[in-house]
Amino acid sequence: MASALTDKLSRLVKEIRGQARITEANVADMLREVRMALLEADVALPVVRDFIARVREKALGQDVLGSLTPGQALVSIVNKELAATMGDGVADINLAAQPPAVILMAGLQGAGKTTTTAKLAKHLIEKRNKKVLTVSGDVYRPAAIEQLKTVTAQAGAEWFPSTPEQKPVDIALAALDFAKKHYFDVLLVDTAGRLAIDDVLMREIKDLHAAIHPVETLFVVDAMQGQDAINTARAFKEALPLTGIILTKLDGDSRGGAALSVRQITGAPIKFAGTSEKLDGLEVFDAERHAGRVLGMGDILALVEQVTAGVDMASAQKLAAKVKSGATFDLNDFLSQIQQMRQMGGLGSLMDKLPSAMAAKAGQVDMGRVEKDIKRKEGIIHSMTPKERTKPDLIKATRKRRIAAGAGVQVQEVNRMLKEFEQMQDMMKKMKGAGMMKMMKRLGG
Ligand code: GDP
Repeated sequence: MASALTDKLSRLVKEIRGQARITEANVADMLREVRMALLEADVALPVVRDFIARVREKALGQDVLGSLTPGQALVSIVNKELAATMGDGVADINLAAQPPAVILMAGLQGAGKTTTTAKLAKHLIEKRNKKVLTVSGDVYRPAAIEQLKTVTAQAGAEWFPSTPEQKPVDIALAALDFAKKHYFDVLLVDTAGRLAIDDVLMREIKDLHAAIHPVETLFVVDAMQGQDAINTARAFKEALPLTGIILTKLDGDSRGGAALSVRQITGAPIKFAGTSEKLDGLEVFDAERHAGRVLGMGDILALVEQVTAGVDMASAQKLAAKVKSGATFDLNDFLSQIQQMRQMGGLGSLMDKLPSAMAAKAGQVDMGRVEKDIKRKEGIIHSMTPKERTKPDLIKATRKRRIAAGAGVQVQEVNRMLKEFEQMQDMMKKMKGAGMMKMMKRLGG
């Protein structure tokens, strides 16, 4: 599912690279694809509309800066806007309260509240050296209370008992009292799961909030929830003054569009991401990385940057000028093209940066062999005399044998390389003038 989209965006990036200026027309095309990407990532429709409107405004009329191609600039605007929408650097938990700092966990049943409560306890113990108490206010499911007890022990925190006969507010107040008396730094309050938004339970969590004055009210939401996330988020935002979001199950294969929806609807920062069922699967939310995931682009921006950085602009321009002036494309030019390919940081390292779909496709190519091939071609050209390089027509049978021996290859290899060179020379002839400039721009900006 994500692969088609990834391809589309990758193609689009390629298409719009090389255009001189961001125009209304190409912005519209690009935004149509971005819109599809967001919808496929399960970002809620109204959120998508809003987002696209903001990006359009930022993109239109923007001049191309520095060496960035317009396409890159637009992708960069989209990426930055996504990252800015999803993150504002307020990552960690606020504990600035008279101890114990009370943290209320809210969310639908199955979102991962209980697991996340324990993960958070572990985080606060290990990273912030806090003494942590947990308590469950889920009086509807005795199993949930037991579950919290188990995971709290695993996290190395303490658990405060509760029973289904008690009222959630009473449980929380008793736990708070206990925490104060025993000098806990933090009290984590897990709450009853809701399968769907339910007025009675919403009332209950509101009362709970009013009784314990949490310094953090965290909305735990399943990243796989997709379009529904917007309704859930809205209901919780209306009921509670949310201070943060924890996005769970980001290890799943969803593209995590819920992050954007939830962030926009609640206005609360996404503080953490759940990345496994295990208790160490909690990471500080990285908005920039997540933006790439939502767009299904892997680290495509970094890739584009690496590729353009690898192209030596001075020699590319020299080549363009040369071709324009009608001079012939010779083996020195061919060599410089090959070397530019190698400068791109080694083909292997580029592979890591490709979106998974592209990488899979590229994975069918043996990168080691490609690199070896480039090296062999370099070796062949280096075995030629300067005269042979500028006048390849001189290279006949005897010279070919000498060159092959010098490079340690078979004569057929020399022939193959010369054939490739001729094809490129042909292409260069056809591309004289404007066409050449266009290609150079596509190469380097
Ligand atoms: P609650 O009903 O909101 O308390 O949800 P639970 O904490 O019981 O979690 C529901 C299910 O989601 C459990 O099977 C958890 O193991 C699982 N879960 C929670 N967080 C994550 C996560 O970040 N990644 C994965 N893969 N599973 C998670």
